[in-house]
Amino acid sequence: MVEAMPEEPSPQTMHAACDEEHPADVGAMLVNFLRHRDVSCPCCGYNLRNLTAPMCPECHESISLKVDVQHRPLHWLLIALVPHMFSAGVSVMFLFFVIQRGWPRMHGVEKWGTYALFVSAAIGIAITVYHRRFLRFKPDAQLMYLVLNWIAHVVLLIAVTTH
Ligand SMILES: [Zn+2]
Repeated sequence: MVEAMPEEPSPQTMHAACDEEHPADVGAMLVNFLRHRDVSCPCCGYNLRNLTAPMCPECHESISLKVDVQHRPLHWLLIALVPHMFSAGVSVMFLFFVIQRGWPRMHGVEKWGTYALFVSAAIGIAITVYHRRFLRFKPDAQLMYLVLNWIAHVVLLIAVTTH
C-alpha cells in the first residue's frame, strides 16, 4: 500500500525555497502565509492579513518571513529593568512627599538627581511597555545597555547621596 504524499513541503524543499537565490519564492511564501492569518506589522502594528507584496501598506517597511526562537531569553531585560524600577519606586515615594509637604527647595545635584530619577522611571515604563522591541536587540546589545545603565544609576546614586 502506497501512502499519499504529504501536502506540506518537506524541510528540504522549504530550505530550497528560502535560499537567497529564490527571493521570489520567499515573497510568495510570505504572501501565502499571510493569506489567512492576522499578523501585525512589527513596525506599525497594521494588520498584514491578505498582503499582496512583501511590504507593509501602512508604513512601507519591507516585510520578510523568518525563523525565530519561540521564547527569547528575558534575563538581560529583567536585570536592566532593576535600576529603573528602583527609580520608579523612589519617584512614587517622592510624589507622596510632595503631596503632603509641597515641592521641596532643591539645588544642584539634588535637583538634577530628582529629574534624572523621573527620567529613569519613565524609561523603565517605556522599556516595560515596548519590551518586545528590547528583546529583538541582539543579546550583546542588551548586555551593553544593561551595563551602561547600571553604571549610570550607581554614579547617580553616589552623586546624590554624597554631595
Ligand atoms: Zn507597518
